Amino acid sequence: MKAKFNTSCTSCGDQIKAGKEIAKDQTGRWVHKYCAAESTDLP
Ligand SMILES: [Zn+2]
Repeated sequence: MKAKFNTSCTSCGDQIKAGKEIAKDQTGRWVHKYCAAESTDLP
């Protein structure tokens, strides 16, 4: 989904601006969509 307001990504620490694609990580926090995808089972 798209962010409705400015917030911060808990994965990379960058700002998430309204209108950006975001997703929830495993802990239910909002992160960038690409950050959520990266957080799965790294070796
Ligand atoms: Zn991020």
